[in-house]
Amino acid sequence: MPSYEAVIGLEVHAQLSTESKMFCSCANKFGSEPNENVCEICSGMPGALPVTNKKAVEYAARMGMAIGCTVNEYSVFSRKSYFYPDLPAGFQTSQLDPPICEHGHLDIRVNGKNKRIGVTRIHMEDDAGKNIHSSGSNVSFVDLNRAGTPLIEIVSEPDLRSAEEAVAYLRGLRSILLYLGICDGNMEEGSLRCDANVSIRPQGSEKFGTRVEIKNLNSFRNVQRAIEYEIGRQKDCLAEGEALFQETRLYDSVKNVTLGMRSKEEAHDYRYFPNPDLPPVIVNKEDLARWRGELPELPAARHARFMAEHGLSVQDADLLTAEKDLADFFEAALAQYKNAKRIANLMQGELLRELNASGKSLADAGISPEGMAELARIIDEGLISVKIAQDLFGELFEKGGSPEQMVRERGLAQVSDSGELEKAVAEAVAENPTEAAEYKAGKTKLLSFFVGQIMRKTKGKANPALVNQLLKKHLG
Ligand code: ADP
Ligand code: MG
Ligand code: ZN
Repeated sequence: MPSYEAVIGLEVHAQLSTESKMFCSCANKFGSEPNENVCEICSGMPGALPVTNKKAVEYAARMGMAIGCTVNEYSVFSRKSYFYPDLPAGFQTSQLDPPICEHGHLDIRVNGKNKRIGVTRIHMEDDAGKNIHSSGSNVSFVDLNRAGTPLIEIVSEPDLRSAEEAVAYLRGLRSILLYLGICDGNMEEGSLRCDANVSIRPQGSEKFGTRVEIKNLNSFRNVQRAIEYEIGRQKDCLAEGEALFQETRLYDSVKNVTLGMRSKEEAHDYRYFPNPDLPPVIVNKEDLARWRGELPELPAARHARFMAEHGLSVQDADLLTAEKDLADFFEAALAQYKNAKRIANLMQGELLRELNASGKSLADAGISPEGMAELARIIDEGLISVKIAQDLFGELFEKGGSPEQMVRERGLAQVSDSGELEKAVAEAVAENPTEAAEYKAGKTKLLSFFVGQIMRKTKGKANPALVNQLLKKHLG
């Protein structure tokens, strides 16, 4: 049995967050009433004339620049013909040759190793509508609100070698899209989704194996699991002596399997041809230069700066720069109070936990960078312990406000009065003579038992450093 290596290439679709759709002035927004944002152009009426959204072209070019692509000054829109009820025009408007951007790359890091993944091309296209199959009845509906939404498709080279690399690559693209502010990155709502092309080949072989395309993966978890499943399935096929054939498969996330959808023989002949209703896309040098000048600091640069300027570790910088809003929050808090490590710890421990648990975005959370800075400061000043900060965090996250005021109003300030603590320590030692004797006989692990006793007596308000010091004195 030879051992196999996986070869993966991703086709990532990102909806652009422009005000209007790709070729008409209908609102480009999620969650409206069915067919609210529809006109004769995006509903594919014969004779309606599309007009290219300049903002979408600009966004596509910005993405290209951010990942080192050449932006073509000349590209064309083509019709990709196929029939489906959510595609009223009978074709998707897309780009075949030349696309707006080509020859880029994205650097990823997996298990501490850096790797460069090639990006073949980025092209612009419009999204289809949605078919809605209502359960319990035999009617289906078509909602065209999404029809005509501007999309970019980012196609990678087959450079990825594992599900982890594929997820890291997708995370990297999402992060850049959000930094650029051109896509909301919401995978649940379908603003970002991807097709994964997967093949395997014997370790050391130069030749690519037969690829399978898994359609429409809509979460990082599904990308990970679908690719892992598919690699396993292909290995099993070869082990059984079966041949693999080129096909399109769907991922069933409930059963965690991929299922055959159509083979290459059944693949569509899209009959691409230049769209006669749309002029070529021309981007001039002045616009390109201006957009390049306006590129924001991107995740990789910010990562390097967070390490150099704020002294963060690779892991801290990873967590804090992946999402632009977190990175902005961190720097805003740091501008108020300069203890990067303390703020980074609070953000990773407490803030990320609350964000995950609540499913909220940072913008909807109550806590402000000022509140976070104040919390870090009152811990450093010894007003509260980290433990109390953790206890208060849920409420601060929800409601915001001043942590110091909260601590003072509720009498949660740490007891750093050595007289008062001395009393509690003496009590704890007197109440637990057996443990005290064992400690003195060398069982120093019992220190934490005593610390716990004192924390209980002081309702968690004792200054831990002082408690340790006093305990050692009393037990020593
Ligand atoms: P199509 O348009 O039919 O999907 P493309 O040639 O544009 O075909 O390739 C789509 C994706 O498939 C690209 O991301 C590419 O890197 C990837 N790919 C091509 N060959 C292989 C292969 N043998 N194994 C895995 N991925 C592949
Ligand atoms: Mg494809
Ligand atoms: Zn429209």
